[in-house]
Amino acid sequence: MKFEVYPLEPGVVQIADGAGNCATLVTGKDRALLFDTMIGLGDLAGFVRAQTALPLTVVNSHGHLDHVGGNLGFQDVYIHPADRALFAANLRVVEERGKNSGLDLSNCAESLAHPERLRDLLPGRVFDLGGLRVKVVPLAGHTAGSVGLLLLERGLLLAGDACTPQMCLFMEGASLRAYRETLLALRALPFDRFVFGHHTGTFARGWLDRFEDCVSLIGRKKPVDYFYSLIPSYRGKAYILKPWNREAQGPVCVIVGKEAEDVC
Ligand SMILES: [Zn+2]
Ligand SMILES: [Zn+2]
Repeated sequence: MKFEVYPLEPGVVQIADGAGNCATLVTGKDRALLFDTMIGLGDLAGFVRAQTALPLTVVNSHGHLDHVGGNLGFQDVYIHPADRALFAANLRVVEERGKNSGLDLSNCAESLAHPERLRDLLPGRVFDLGGLRVKVVPLAGHTAGSVGLLLLERGLLLAGDACTPQMCLFMEGASLRAYRETLLALRALPFDRFVFGHHTGTFARGWLDRFEDCVSLIGRKKPVDYFYSLIPSYRGKAYILKPWNREAQGPVCVIVGKEAEDVC
């Protein structure tokens, strides 16, 4: 497989693995930071090393396997402590997901087998890359330990899966209540563009309105039954704001699990 690189702006590129997963590499004058390691296809560490020789910090946006699978090539990887259990729980589904997707997830399994390389990351921390400061912000909901990175000098928010056009709240540990609070908190953050974990390019801050509109459909509109084809035991109800959006290359919706619905 071949990684694709999408330059977003000076010092910020997305790296895509061709299987729908993206990481973001941020480079300052003194240091570089990699946000997410995707699902473990190919030699991500080697690829990143070819992009920059600067000292590198690696951060997982949250504990799902499509964001931590390439950790194996890196010595230390920061993750919110609230997602450590989720990181370990991936071991139960990695084989099924590999079989159903036809992808070789052996790197991912290897990454999951080595939690000792994980380092605790707490919101509020600022990584100074040299002329570019990156602040860790809490974005719970998708998972309890989801974090975003706010590029303070750029007004750019790397959001992972914490808010996305197809918002997933049906997996283990997701919380609609926490997601609502995160949407409120996002209103107060100084950014004007998002970067998401499964889309290339930047998205305007105005998407925040759509995320709120999706949540407002819960309990008011008839949802559509949903199951995740790669792990069929993951089921939920999709509240669809728009069946198709060109920019998002898919629907605009929020998918909640039974537990999430109970708290609305
Ligand atoms: Zn996720
Ligand atoms: Zn994801």
